[in-house]
Amino acid sequence: MRKFIRTPFAIALLIGLLCALSGGADPLNHMYWNIRFKFGGQNVPNSIVVISEQVPTVDGANGQWASQDQSRLIEIIRRQVPQRVFFDAALVPGDEHAIDGKFSEVVRQFGDDFSIVLHAGNGDQSTFGSPLLDDGRLHGTQRVISAWKTNFLGYATSSATEFVRNGKVYKAFASALARDPRQGKRIYAAAEFDPESVPVLDARHVLNNQFAPGLLTGRTVVVTQARGASQAIGYHGHGRVDPTLVDVTAAYGFRRPFSASWGPWFPLLLASTLLLVAQRSEKFRWRIAFAFLAALAPIALPIPLQLIGITTTPADAFVMLAVYASVNLWHRWRSRFRHTSTSGLPNLVALSERKIDPGHDVVVAVIARYEEFLATLPTEQHGECAQQIARRLAVGSGSAQIYHGEGGQFAWTEEARALDTQFDHLDGLKALFSAPLRIGDHTFDTNVHFGLDRNGALDAHTRVNSALASATEALTHGRTTESFEAARLADASWDLSLHSRIDDGLRNGEIWLAFQPQWDFRVNRISGAEALIRWNHPERGPIKPDEFILQAERAGRIDTLTYWVIEQAISAHAALSVGDPLFQMSINLSGQMVDKPSLVSNFSEIVRRRGIDARRLTVEVTETSGVQNRPAARHNLSQLRAMGFRLSIDDFGTGEASLSYLAELPSDELKLDRRFVSAITTCSRNRTIVGSTIGLAHALGQVVVAEGIEDEETFHMLRAMDCDHAQGYWIGRPVPLAELVSRCSETGRSISAAFRDC
Ligand code: C2E
Ligand code: CA
Ligand code: CA
Repeated sequence: MRKFIRTPFAIALLIGLLCALSGGADPLNHMYWNIRFKFGGQNVPNSIVVISEQVPTVDGANGQWASQDQSRLIEIIRRQVPQRVFFDAALVPGDEHAIDGKFSEVVRQFGDDFSIVLHAGNGDQSTFGSPLLDDGRLHGTQRVISAWKTNFLGYATSSATEFVRNGKVYKAFASALARDPRQGKRIYAAAEFDPESVPVLDARHVLNNQFAPGLLTGRTVVVTQARGASQAIGYHGHGRVDPTLVDVTAAYGFRRPFSASWGPWFPLLLASTLLLVAQRSEKFRWRIAFAFLAALAPIALPIPLQLIGITTTPADAFVMLAVYASVNLWHRWRSRFRHTSTSGLPNLVALSERKIDPGHDVVVAVIARYEEFLATLPTEQHGECAQQIARRLAVGSGSAQIYHGEGGQFAWTEEARALDTQFDHLDGLKALFSAPLRIGDHTFDTNVHFGLDRNGALDAHTRVNSALASATEALTHGRTTESFEAARLADASWDLSLHSRIDDGLRNGEIWLAFQPQWDFRVNRISGAEALIRWNHPERGPIKPDEFILQAERAGRIDTLTYWVIEQAISAHAALSVGDPLFQMSINLSGQMVDKPSLVSNFSEIVRRRGIDARRLTVEVTETSGVQNRPAARHNLSQLRAMGFRLSIDDFGTGEASLSYLAELPSDELKLDRRFVSAITTCSRNRTIVGSTIGLAHALGQVVVAEGIEDEETFHMLRAMDCDHAQGYWIGRPVPLAELVSRCSETGRSISAAFRDC
């Protein structure tokens, strides 16, 4: 119900009803009827003839007819044998009783066929108080009353059929004119009649017998007077007219089969029903047809209804329709900001504004290299690309609604499972993306990374953002899923002050470099080392490098750290290469730095300043899905290689598109990830993968380094597989420089038990 009240239909209906009850739409109704009756007014039949006393301008009794002239006029009319006479002019009692007496005498001869009309327009009682009501000389003469209700602008709307004054019942003028016997009803202004078609004779012509013979005979004659503007009454479509004309046309209105008012209710009911039908119609064609009818009905229907005597006020229905259209337009306008323009799918803002059901996870999937796909697709296929991905995710996640952020971000909510099960489920979802996407003539290999938020206590906006940040993190580190840990929030202050802490750590030695030896199978000795960063925090203890590297990247401190590592590694190289000038030193380059414009010049400045042969330095880069500008990254890496640096593809076999990466990058070395290496003794598949990767790398002129060698068996197996270099705990753990230097000299760079055990 609460949902229904918020719909455009319910809002519109409510406002329509409020208008109907308060009369708020009266100005519109007035305009409607005014316009409607301006055109196509009907002519009245001429069974009622009006004789108008023109007010003499110079003499006469204060701008009114003299009593004796009125007496003469009535006498002339009487001789024409009219059916009835209504006297609707100012009746001047006169100074001379004789003349008044003459008037009463003529009137008396009419008997019941003569009525005096009294006006009480809009509650104005002035004429009621006139002596005429109980003037003794006209005693017994019938009196009728004209008292029209008017709208806010003084336009006649309706009148009672009789009035009670001082205990006496008086018939309404229009009822009396029509000889309508109905009582207790209402009369409605018959504005469909053109008031100018009522035959009006000038009373002075009648006095001079200048009128067509027989014109008055057998007809109803109304004697009126030309009234001033102050007494005129509004007549829809015709401005202000003599009130007599309102009664005369209303009298003809009695010929209509009905006399009723359905007010605003009928148009409202009709329009809202049609609107509801339009809304419920499944076919677009029907929706349009019913919406059109809903708009047309309140405009068109009042016209025939009016002709059969049923008055309606359609403006409240217009108001309702206008509100409905406006609210709908407003919703549509707003929803533009809640949809992604290319795919038409609701966007992440829409998800952030939704109420997320308790016990549900927010999942964000980020498609790696999405912008690259789009760049190769024609613009009109961008939407199809996003929709295809959304369909896959919907099928895999079982979620009915997938939200699409600009770029390759897709989000949804799903019921929370046990965390392990949820991770397995997302792994399965990732597998769905092993089949390439086919858009038009294009085929793409995709990879997807997920961010998961399980913090039901937070608001939707924060949860979407945290899932998004986790997904970006998963993408940057080539992981399938990252989940938002609430503990990270507690780390916010730590994160925020990281900037200065890193600087302090570098200064006071909390941050230092460990070196892990690398074994050369071809010459059977230690031939190099990888520099690995360490942070021994006084309060937090040792912090894992991949953890604080990530934070340093976020805090914009990764450049400082990297250049510090290079400087340290060069110094270490000097110590380690004493007995071996070809000793190789490997350093890790963050994905965030590879595309930096200043990278090449900074590296070359360091090499020049430190006077080191760049060929002794190996730069390890992992998959670069986190790299924003891939062409710039490619360019930088080629430049470094041109300067002599060796280039190594780290963690080969994990992350995405390692093969295409191998094809794309001008590298010298390939580091097999320890996840493959550590399992070669137990898993024949891994053995095959490692064996054939070594073959492939050699075919491409690459040197192969196997990481993560933790036992002798693995070590020998790799040697048998023709692997070039080995790195792992079994050969040597990462140690401080001094330790590596002393052990290298102690053992003559061979693998010793002491070395392994450190
Ligand atoms: P990585 O480049 O893959 O470094 C190798 C990681 O494997 C090191 O972890 C090393 O201690 C560990 N490792 C070596 N042998 C074995 C083994 O036999 N078994 C097992 N289980 N692990 C072994 P570490 O030192 O914790 O470094 C983690 C990651 O942090 C590195 O992975 C690298 O991505 C990053 N990292 C470390 N130092 C730096 C740095 O100076 N700059 C950048 N950008 N990243 C760094
Ligand atoms: Ca590395
Ligand atoms: Ca590695």
